[in-house]
Amino acid sequence: MIPYGRQEISPGDIEAVVATLGSDWLTQGPAVPRFEAMVAGFCGARHGVAVNSATSALHLACLALGLGPGDRLWTSPNTFVASANCALYCGATVDFVDIDPRTYNMSTEALQRKLQQAEGLGCLPKIVVPVHFAGQSCDMQAIHALAQRYGFRIIEDASHAIGGAYQGQPIGDGRFADLTVFSFHPVKIVTTAEGGMVLTHQTPLYERMARLRSHGITRDPESMAGESEGPWYYEQIELGYNYRLTDIQAALGASQMGQLQNFVAKRRQLAARYGESLADLPLTLPWQHPDSDSAWHLYVVCLRLEQIRSSRLQVFNALRAAGIGVNVHYIPVHTQPYYRKLGFKVGDFPESERYYAGALSLPLFPTLTDAQQEYVVDTLRHLLT
Ligand SMILES: *Cc1c(COP(=O)(O)O)cnc(C)c1O
Repeated sequence: MIPYGRQEISPGDIEAVVATLGSDWLTQGPAVPRFEAMVAGFCGARHGVAVNSATSALHLACLALGLGPGDRLWTSPNTFVASANCALYCGATVDFVDIDPRTYNMSTEALQRKLQQAEGLGCLPKIVVPVHFAGQSCDMQAIHALAQRYGFRIIEDASHAIGGAYQGQPIGDGRFADLTVFSFHPVKIVTTAEGGMVLTHQTPLYERMARLRSHGITRDPESMAGESEGPWYYEQIELGYNYRLTDIQAALGASQMGQLQNFVAKRRQLAARYGESLADLPLTLPWQHPDSDSAWHLYVVCLRLEQIRSSRLQVFNALRAAGIGVNVHYIPVHTQPYYRKLGFKVGDFPESERYYAGALSLPLFPTLTDAQQEYVVDTLRHLLT
């Protein structure tokens, strides 16, 4: 089976991990700050906080911005559930902003309309979480302008987008967001097996997240409520978690970062090749905004269901039967049973539902061979014509 995504682990990655296993530190050693500095340096951010998943990163990001009961967080329905769940962990409420039918990202126009209404009703969000779907940046300049006007904070869910650029600058550089979150799950662009990171320029947010990552404990006398009782002394000054990344994982991540530009270049090349060879099929191919240089986490085609005889399910099953591990990203979050219990229903965000009905993610990862890609294209052509 050709999967839709997979990691690429080099001999150098394996050496880096093995070296850590033989070192003094399996966790809380030097590899984590080194990895943080590499990612922050690559993206042009001041600080990075590495954690054990992007889900944890989103949770810490919300806590650092003071999200709590009575507050609201808005995100895109076309995302993995974690982008919304982070608000619920904090006791806040979630709402969604429908997508742009061209980019499948949060629509800036829909956001503006919803903010106008919310201002009238006195229920503006505290945080908006734009999700850079498939690796393409949202329209961050416009979202940032709305944040200035309506007073919300921005957490970019860039789980798909490390190595991508917006207006010629790396995603994660913090020009238009308070915080940027990356995921290092194996299907993402670079991996630590499980892992995530939050980037920010804002030192107080960085310090808060670093403390919350490790139980809310501080060893900094400046932050303590009392006097230090000796060199062993620490204080827990708030309720934190154990969201730490291990040194083993950070060593893998740092080694993978050395390949990031090659990985993204390969993904761009494969995406361009799909674009050329699928152009005449009854498919809507990914549309790229001129401001965006996608990291191409996913290559999503939308079946033009009115032009083909088969259903999406039939095409999906036929591809799987042919050994092609297609997938679907994403089931709109508001239609999940858990979110329906919170009051959302099918029909609430029609663009994301229309998109979902035809979407299909084709295999895309750096080691996908030309022959494999041709096989995917030929199989799809055979099924659709
Ligand atoms: C993968 C993903 C996450 C969660 O990442 P984990 O590292 O698995 O916790 C969150 N948001 C989006 C958009 C994702 O794709």
